[in-house]
Amino acid sequence: MATLRPLLAGNWKMNGTRASLSVVSALRDAVAAGRMRGVDTVVCPPATLVMAAADLCAGSSLMIGGQDCDSQPAGASTGDVSAEMLKDAGAAAVIVGHSERRNLHGESDAVVRAKAEAAARAGLLAIICVGESRAERDGGETLRVIGRQIDESVPPAATARTVALAYEPVWAIGTGLTPEATDIAEVHGFLRRRLQALIGGEGGGVRLLYGGSVKPDNAGEVWGVENVDGLLVGGASLKEEDFLAIAAAR
Ligand code: PEP
Repeated sequence: MATLRPLLAGNWKMNGTRASLSVVSALRDAVAAGRMRGVDTVVCPPATLVMAAADLCAGSSLMIGGQDCDSQPAGASTGDVSAEMLKDAGAAAVIVGHSERRNLHGESDAVVRAKAEAAARAGLLAIICVGESRAERDGGETLRVIGRQIDESVPPAATARTVALAYEPVWAIGTGLTPEATDIAEVHGFLRRRLQALIGGEGGGVRLLYGGSVKPDNAGEVWGVENVDGLLVGGASLKEEDFLAIAAAR
């Protein structure tokens, strides 16, 4: 069971239109009714919905986040959205370094670190994602790969207030596959030690999220793993009943 205040994050990916804002309203009402008590909750819709979602959550502790940001505050970068723009739209957090960004958009660890630094500059919590591919796991490379991603993606100035770290095995995302609880525990223990080596005592307060095929029926087991301080949920965050059930499983 987590000792840090848990963080539940929903990543809608490239899903959602204005009609989906009803999910945000339902979650906001659930938070108001005390159904998310004890859990910090952030929903990350596509960029087109961030401002409307944040407006719906004005005065609520339900946070809205972006799914990515540019490292620059403004400028000639067609199609990109800066951390400052997300903040201005009402966001409180942003996911950076999701494996879909790393793989589909060729984002390096250095790029991810610059984005995490931009998030801190703008006053957003950066949820930095790391995780190994299937081939890397099969090759016994998991901890080496994740260690490199942490060392090179996490800003040296990161604090528990500016950063959360999400372990998302690439092979578990959207596949229905999840690692054994013992494997998650091993990686999360490693994340904790590596973060402490990198940023010192602050590393003890950074929330460590697990992500990859978390559903209502397996959430309880994952919440219970040592050093799991939160969950990053993709597909199951699109339906309020599933997301609420995942929060309730803690
Ligand atoms: C994700 O995209 O971050 C994710 C964890 O997806 P899913 O829960 O659908 O596996």
